[in-house]
Amino acid sequence: MEKEYSVLAVDDETTNLILLNVILSPDYTVLTAKSGAEALRRAEKDKPDLILLDIILPDINGFEVLSRLKESPETRDIPVIIITGLTEENDEERGFFLGAVDYITKPFKNGIVRARVNTHMQILRYIRTIERLGLVDPMLYIANKRSFDVRFVQEWRKSGREQAPISFMMIDIDKFKSYNDTYGHPQGDILLQNAARVFRTAAKRPSDLAARLGGDEFGVLLPNTSAEEALAIAESIRAEIDALRIPTNNGTNTVTTVSIGLTTHIPKEDEDTKDFLSKTQKNLHLSKTTGRNKITAN
Ligand code: GH3
Ligand code: MG
Repeated sequence: MEKEYSVLAVDDETTNLILLNVILSPDYTVLTAKSGAEALRRAEKDKPDLILLDIILPDINGFEVLSRLKESPETRDIPVIIITGLTEENDEERGFFLGAVDYITKPFKNGIVRARVNTHMQILRYIRTIERLGLVDPMLYIANKRSFDVRFVQEWRKSGREQAPISFMMIDIDKFKSYNDTYGHPQGDILLQNAARVFRTAAKRPSDLAARLGGDEFGVLLPNTSAEEALAIAESIRAEIDALRIPTNNGTNTVTTVSIGLTTHIPKEDEDTKDFLSKTQKNLHLSKTTGRNKITAN
């Protein structure tokens, strides 16, 4: 039977490829490659939905393969899970820095491989659905401005009806221009993807929404959330981005930070959203002008 999704497994050891084939072939079409060059060829030609990538390969190192996949518009959106015997913490960070979505260490357990692959396929299915609806930012897989605008008005009205507090934060990456200038625009894109993942994860409840408002500016909408609760979420986002010490190819770490403006309000009946939004914007601006890597809330 034709399978819906395909996985490209890259490993130089035949036994590992056989094992991955056994684990995944009941659910997916499994393609294989035994070298970096073959992996790049197959990725370009067969367009797998997901790649499982070994790091130690006979020809091109897996990190290099990952970089090249991310450079090509044909392959840059294929999610890559690194699967390797390397357990150095830096390798994991380096993988994420280069744009991997997940990391599995060898010797791998069948159930773990299956569960991780299934998770990423579910995300893929979700992304393709919302992509079709035109509601997602195609590079960051996070709600776009259009879907934010729609949801914001709905939640604002609902909060007014229920007389519940609604919280909203605007987040902007600090000195992102200079990050782009130092590491290049494609690397900047990966930073945005990693940051978007943090925002998406922080927006935990079904009614929460993380969205890209434009450029390096994001919004997190938290309906039914008090000022204290929202501040705790904002602080966890600030701290998590700060802790994402991003390793560079030359072995040093860069620390990227974000500035946040936060506002909480119980909307009155028929109240306009304008003041609430401009207050949040002002708070963000205050965070920017008073040191960055901080939250201004009121
Ligand atoms: P500040 O701390 O004041 O925010 O400094 P900044 O350098 O981040 O300034 P600003 O927010 O004005 O700069 C936004 C930068 O984001 C400039 C633009 O090139 C970059 N940018 C916007 N969209 C993208 C994108 O999709 N990818 C990449 N790599 N860069 C982007
Ligand atoms: Mg910025």
